[in-house]
Amino acid sequence: MESCSLGIDIGGTKIAAGLVSRSGEVFEQKNYPTPQESNQSILEVLREIISSFPGIALEMDKNLIGIGVGSAGQVNFKDGQILSGTTNIKDWNNIHITKYLNQFTDLPIWLDNDANTFAVAEYVHGSARGTNDMVCLTLGTGVGGGIISNGDLIRGDWGGAAELGHITVDMNGPACNCGSNGCMEVYASGTGIANRMKEHLAHLAKQELPEEIKFYLENPERLTSKEVFSWYEAGLPVATETINLAIQALSYGIVSIIHTFNPSVIVLGGGLVRERTWLATEIKKNIASKGIRSLVEPVDIRISELGYHAGLIGAASQVWFQQ
Ligand SMILES: [Zn+2]
Repeated sequence: MESCSLGIDIGGTKIAAGLVSRSGEVFEQKNYPTPQESNQSILEVLREIISSFPGIALEMDKNLIGIGVGSAGQVNFKDGQILSGTTNIKDWNNIHITKYLNQFTDLPIWLDNDANTFAVAEYVHGSARGTNDMVCLTLGTGVGGGIISNGDLIRGDWGGAAELGHITVDMNGPACNCGSNGCMEVYASGTGIANRMKEHLAHLAKQELPEEIKFYLENPERLTSKEVFSWYEAGLPVATETINLAIQALSYGIVSIIHTFNPSVIVLGGGLVRERTWLATEIKKNIASKGIRSLVEPVDIRISELGYHAGLIGAASQVWFQQ
């Protein structure tokens, strides 16, 4: 009987659950909308998942050997606890996920931060397979990071390492949610790109702007990174400065990462990167003139191969990878 693991990927809008083989094949996947009312209702969904999937595995003649959970937010890997979450998930703080789930299953459970599980997925099954030293950056609402050094995930003392989005690239830069200033995230995350674009628009003379852009000057709360990217990709000069700033911030941040960890591959993933291979090309071009040659030159900048599935596959892959 073939072994499989149950992967659960907890995000702000959906919780994906699925049976995944050791080779990364997804046998059965179900998506649940993330309950918005309370953290208790999220735990109820998790309970439902771990109660129903063992039966599904049995029906499919698969041997379910463990459960891997990935979640947004800061995760204490040692204790299986969400420490402090993300504003995307309601009251996602101080929750002992592993302890809670252990009440309903005898299977071993792993819990990690979703940027770490993303790194595991790309390392084991995705665009960094075959390497030993790689770093992942996930560009979405925020900027997440995961580091694999000499085949091991770098966790630090309790699991909080690799907050790469909070590398400062300008100490005089805008304040960041984390309490620091000028972090990569304030320039290169979805939120950061929208915020920098709003600042830029506020400095422009209104009459010179195309109608479509004027709308966002009057309704700045409607502006997201999606519009900024579409203006840039359509060649509108108004978005050039903001996107160049994001590329510069990522490039300086990545050079610091390369200096620190000497990786052979950097994988870019997350919603902002999807179908934007030009981002990897631009960054590669940009870092060529920065940093220590022997370290920077050989590094490959790649786009995530697993895309939407990385979260689920990475969560499930912990069952084999973390052992
Ligand atoms: Zn920060």
